[in-house]
Amino acid sequence: MEYEPAKDRYFGKMQYKYCGNSGLLLPRISLGLWHNFGDVDDFGIATDMVKYAFDNGITHFDLANNYGPSPGSAEINFGKILKNNFQGYRDEMIISSKAGHEMWAGPYGDGSSRKNLMASIDQSLRRTGLEYFDIFYSHRYDGVTPVEETIQALIDIVKRGKALYAGISKYPPEKARIAYQMLKDNGVPCLINQSRYSMFDREVENGTLALADEFGAGFIAFSPLAQGILTNKYLHGIPEDSRAAKSTGFLKKDQVTEDKIVIARQLNEIAQRRGQTLAQMALAWVLKDERVTSVIVGASSVKQLSDNLKTVENLEFTDDEVNQISSLISS
Ligand code: NDP
Repeated sequence: MEYEPAKDRYFGKMQYKYCGNSGLLLPRISLGLWHNFGDVDDFGIATDMVKYAFDNGITHFDLANNYGPSPGSAEINFGKILKNNFQGYRDEMIISSKAGHEMWAGPYGDGSSRKNLMASIDQSLRRTGLEYFDIFYSHRYDGVTPVEETIQALIDIVKRGKALYAGISKYPPEKARIAYQMLKDNGVPCLINQSRYSMFDREVENGTLALADEFGAGFIAFSPLAQGILTNKYLHGIPEDSRAAKSTGFLKKDQVTEDKIVIARQLNEIAQRRGQTLAQMALAWVLKDERVTSVIVGASSVKQLSDNLKTVENLEFTDDEVNQISSLISS
């Protein structure tokens, strides 16, 4: 039967927040396609997750050229999902992609050169079948390419209509400042900064969040569940059907340390007292910072996504809870 999006998808199931000083609303929970949408994954489950997300008010889908495996296959699969189910709904979606990590052979398939970004966005548009991306990111500061070269490419991408907004990801604060200033001076203000942020990785509190705020950019957190460690998944060992156990997963078994699991178990007790799952509490904790626009969650099933979506039902923390959590995660 042909899919028809749920009619009540915008009736209070999701909350939206303006992205920085822009006029663009993003859902507090966005869906990321880094894992579980490649050609090693189940296309039926991938399709069901996108439908479920959309039915529940998730309007923002986050891709990159290299997501898979194989690299590029997440964009191809997402393009098929759109074509098969979402014709006529493009204007209800914010679709982002990125360039800057290794993607194709030779000296131009990696890094943040103008050559890489310009070729990459055309490849990503072809793979997804889209006419434009809503947000296009420089995926990383590569340590070599002058920021000015990368940012000029982003400016030109927006000015040529290949993307509506520009974003930066994983820029050290001193490089981010140059990027924000240059984007602003050229009439393409940076919409958003995408960086890792979770109870287990708080590096962005050392400048990245403040700088985004200073320049009126939004902030979107990736890996807010620490790739699954901040859920009930690993509380009692490493299950076979987990990212850490899969050969294609970016989470390695030795990253699931006993220290982290001991803390996760204690966090889980606080979550239970709040009437939430650990995943929901971990997402709410990231979202409680006013400067955070959205979290990008990954999921390997509709059940996980449904768990994560319920986060928006309780985003408040008492001072006591904040203190208890702080003492656990800073120990
Ligand atoms: P998360 O921290 O949300 O981890 C997602 C994983 O956690 C899932 O695949 C699943 O693992 C597990 N999980 C999720 N929800 C639940 C739940 N309710 N209960 C139990 N387990 C759960 O995020 P990701 O690391 O996947 O990153 C999210 C997105 O951020 C990416 O898809 C991508 O779009 C973006 N990203 C951007 C980067 C950048 O450089 N800019 C880098 C990394 C990510 P399992 O498969 O084991 O079930």
